[in-house]
Amino acid sequence: MRLIFMGPPGAGKGTQAQVVADRFGIPAISTGDIFRANVTEGTELGVEAKRYMDAGEYVPDTVTNLMVRNRIDEEDAVKGFLLDGYPRTLAQVDELDGMINYTGHRLDAVVCLAVDADELVRRLFSRAQTEGRADDTEDVIRRRQELYLEQTQPLVEVYRKRGLLCEVDGIGEVDEVTKRILDALSNVQES
Ligand code: AMP
Repeated sequence: MRLIFMGPPGAGKGTQAQVVADRFGIPAISTGDIFRANVTEGTELGVEAKRYMDAGEYVPDTVTNLMVRNRIDEEDAVKGFLLDGYPRTLAQVDELDGMINYTGHRLDAVVCLAVDADELVRRLFSRAQTEGRADDTEDVIRRRQELYLEQTQPLVEVYRKRGLLCEVDGIGEVDEVTKRILDALSNVQES
């Protein structure tokens, strides 16, 4: 399985990505998590990424694409992977197509979690209080939502046109949402 998880910041992508990836026995690859790990370790990549992340901006495509390319070349991703938070721009879509075509595989599905704007902001503020993430301040939360609408939302149409899109209601208990995603994916596998 080669899957993409999309959805605005606060839609619960990370939580669901991990559960679904475990279910399929594939790694959940979160670009946000890889960036944060690099920030913590103080690597060159982390220092570069932090400047953008703290402001709620996207890390430049060249940096992000190379990181994903290296990650999906790793042994555990040969049989499949679930990308959480990548691609986020049209240029990243092209780059990912190239990476997947090169290996002779194809994307199986793109899961997009839908959550309305008020609920998103409420969730992000609550996460800011419990996790204390540096990019969960009010201005940054707003900027990240804006950027999602501008740069990432258009990808939904790209994947819809390719017949890969599975739109799933992201409101509800974690287990309920997981079930919706797995149901949507079982339809994909059958068709
Ligand atoms: P996330 O944990 O997915 O919300 O990502 C946290 C931050 O990492 C984002 O706000 C961006 O600054 C950066 N980031 C994660 N994925 C990408 C990507 N695909 N392209 C550019 N920046 C990204």
